Amino acid sequence: MCAALLRPLLLILVLVLGGRFCLGDRPLLVFLIDGFRFDYMDELSGLPGFRELVETGVKVDYVTPEFPSLSYPNYYSLMTGRSCDIHQMTGNYMWDEVTMKEFLIGTNLDSRLPLWWDGSEPIWVTMQKKGKNVAMYYWPGCEVEILGVRPSFCEEYVYNPSLKNLTDSIEDALDNLETGKAEMAAIYYEKIDVEGHHFGPDSHQIKTAVRELDTALQMLNKKIKEKDLGDKLNVMLFSDHGMTAIQWMERVIELDQHINMSDIVKMMDRGVVVSLWPKHNKEQEVLTALSGVPNMRVYDRQNIPERFHYKGGKFVPPLTLVAEPGWFITENKATLPYWNNGTGTSGWQKGWHGYDNTFNDMKAFFLATGPDFKKGLQAGPIRAVDIYNLMCSTAGVVPLPNNGSWARVECLLSGAGPLPRPLLWSLLTTLLLALLLVSRYI
Ligand SMILES: [Zn+2]
Repeated sequence: MCAALLRPLLLILVLVLGGRFCLGDRPLLVFLIDGFRFDYMDELSGLPGFRELVETGVKVDYVTPEFPSLSYPNYYSLMTGRSCDIHQMTGNYMWDEVTMKEFLIGTNLDSRLPLWWDGSEPIWVTMQKKGKNVAMYYWPGCEVEILGVRPSFCEEYVYNPSLKNLTDSIEDALDNLETGKAEMAAIYYEKIDVEGHHFGPDSHQIKTAVRELDTALQMLNKKIKEKDLGDKLNVMLFSDHGMTAIQWMERVIELDQHINMSDIVKMMDRGVVVSLWPKHNKEQEVLTALSGVPNMRVYDRQNIPERFHYKGGKFVPPLTLVAEPGWFITENKATLPYWNNGTGTSGWQKGWHGYDNTFNDMKAFFLATGPDFKKGLQAGPIRAVDIYNLMCSTAGVVPLPNNGSWARVECLLSGAGPLPRPLLWSLLTTLLLALLLVSRYI
């Protein structure tokens, strides 16, 4: 074929394939349902709100959280697509040895410092940078200026937002998405996690809380129909981790029975993953003393398993303790974190999470519905870091480098819209551009 014919043909092909590379660009509504274990909605017959979402969209078997299977590490993995050693949010409680600042599950002012958040860029920051507005409701971290950017609207986190807070947020979010005031809205709901801790994952309180949440989802489904948003809006719901039952008076590891706590300069968190900074001349002694303690593992930094994608984090301490499923680590029983049950007595915690992320009870859920998703598809498991790519592709932003797998989530998409197949299309486009260039010299 002569060059005069080849060049226009290749140019047309480049334009066609380049067109396929453009991103979906529909409004997106996401829900982060804290502590919702993957199997909490197994009995769909009593959950019409969930059932409608599942029947009209996609559901995966489960989502494997990042390690540790705690909230903040996974909030950030979900929104950045990065594992914890990259985004640096390695715990709900962290200590920076350099500045001596503490991060205390978002409740202290120092938790808003950039050093905790600037390790990776969450999707809402990327969207704002591209001129797309994001409205966030009770979402932990939306009040923080990250890499110099805040979302265009942030209803600041409060402890355990009520069902009314949730339904008001849904109404406001849908209004903002419908009118174009926001391209993405993100709503956080905590009650499922709170009830799971207080009463355990198998309690009737959990079932009640899930049914309450379902009433809000019924209202969501109704409003989407009323506003005729069914073929315009994508909706995703996911959780950060699951929950397992504990017996914290029987299955408790009391550190002061094994080590002298005065040898510890700093201890962060109690429960499953405990961070210890021993005095510098005591590290080996503490490590040896804890190595023989049953029902938990102690790791120095270099020996933390690679599969946790954790040990490279800059707030990871010299010694990390990880409890076996069902076990709870604390200094002693007097320091167990009781909760105020409103009757003047201290409540025992009946459920906990944070364990090895391959432990089944730690698995989270994901479901999605909308024009870019298949209908009625039950799909295999995915990982928390995979969800970022789905959000980017449907909301119309090019994903930043991340640890998620496109191959694991691509099958969830309907393919009806101009959704990205980033690697394939960019490779083909590059190849054709190269051919076009070469053809100039044929
Ligand atoms: Zn929790």
